[in-house]
Amino acid sequence: MLWSMMFMTLIIPACSDDDDDLEEPHTCDAFHWEYEGEGATWGSCFMECGGQAQSPVNITQTVEDQSLSELQMNYTDVPIHLLNNGHTIQFEYETGSQLQVNGVAYELLQFHFHTVSEHTIDGVRYPMEVHLVHKNLDTDALAVIGIMFKQGTENPFLQSFMDDLPTAADEHFTSEQMVNISTILPNSRSYYLYDGSLTTPPCSEVVTWIVMQTPIEASPEQIDRMYELMQDNYRPIQPLNGREIKAFN
Ligand SMILES: [Zn+2]
Repeated sequence: MLWSMMFMTLIIPACSDDDDDLEEPHTCDAFHWEYEGEGATWGSCFMECGGQAQSPVNITQTVEDQSLSELQMNYTDVPIHLLNNGHTIQFEYETGSQLQVNGVAYELLQFHFHTVSEHTIDGVRYPMEVHLVHKNLDTDALAVIGIMFKQGTENPFLQSFMDDLPTAADEHFTSEQMVNISTILPNSRSYYLYDGSLTTPPCSEVVTWIVMQTPIEASPEQIDRMYELMQDNYRPIQPLNGREIKAFN
């Protein structure tokens, strides 16, 4: 085997499924996975990516659940801290913001974007989705709020850092300007809820997914700019395998 080919197997963990590389031991590096579209093979390097409760999913045939509670967000104003991690634009949220849902409290860690959306709702895919990642500090369980963007008017929250997006991998942007993610939430707090996973390796099945039923808006220019930087950073739809999607209306 050519040395250059061996090098490729080292840096591309979503290993090709069509050749004799399978005889070689895989060297999988969590920092070097790539988006590969339909038929991606993360499962060959990250065992949990082949699990039975993976995300994202198509949200359909939901069941209204009266036992679900209203989302209680207590998000504080924070300075802007953006990171381009090579997969997404991520906003590192300073500590001190909480989400409480169904009796469990979580701390907001960060939010980040996907173009196009990862979840679909009744088969509809949106041009962008933001994920607000929260963690329960006792159990390490995650609650991620997903909000869909549709094309519409300029989004003022996004606009507060739109001209300062870090364009290269590992680039940061910080500013003393204070912003609050709560300003981006849709007026309606109706949501869907299901048990799933991280949508990137290692695909750990530790996420309570909360997908807001109502999309928010961003301008075509804002969505185009985000797509320019992130390209198709979405994972294909995963099978539900019998999981129920609950609705809080
Ligand atoms: Zn995400």
